[in-house]
Amino acid sequence: MEKVNFEENRLNDTRKRDIVVKRLNERGVELTQIAEITLYLQSQYVPDLTLETCLDHVERVVMKREVQNAILTGLELDILAEKGLISEPLSSMLMNDYGLYGVDEVLALAIVNVYGSIGFTNFGYVDKAKIGVIKHLDELGKAKDVCHTFLDDIVGAIAAAAASSIAHRYA
Ligand code: MG
Repeated sequence: MEKVNFEENRLNDTRKRDIVVKRLNERGVELTQIAEITLYLQSQYVPDLTLETCLDHVERVVMKREVQNAILTGLELDILAEKGLISEPLSSMLMNDYGLYGVDEVLALAIVNVYGSIGFTNFGYVDKAKIGVIKHLDELGKAKDVCHTFLDDIVGAIAAAAASSIAHRYA
């Protein structure tokens, strides 16, 4: 028997990549800003690493279907929370970026998961150190009507995954 043809299967990964990048842009994040975090993470291991190479690996990361799905899911929850479309108690947890909520980090692990254990180490570091645009997003997210609960982890996870992709390439 043939499987149900979900909408996801009709969108090819390139088309979905465009949607994902546009959605990130609308939420205030350019892929170059993610590549800057990757460069920061990986330049000590790959001395002549350029921002262009990092951007190339960020582009590869956002071509992966499980990465795209995690991005779409996380950003949607942030947006719904901002619009007041999520019920309590979840609404307050998301709008206040409640520290013990934890599902934002778990969702982001679906992104780093694609690149193995180096990805997890990098993600843990990025999450704590709040490098580059992550720090900016974190600060903007403190405004009453802004929710970046999932966005900051997603950005960190994409950067960490790209760093791992580079590490695998140049190791
Ligand atoms: Mg978060």
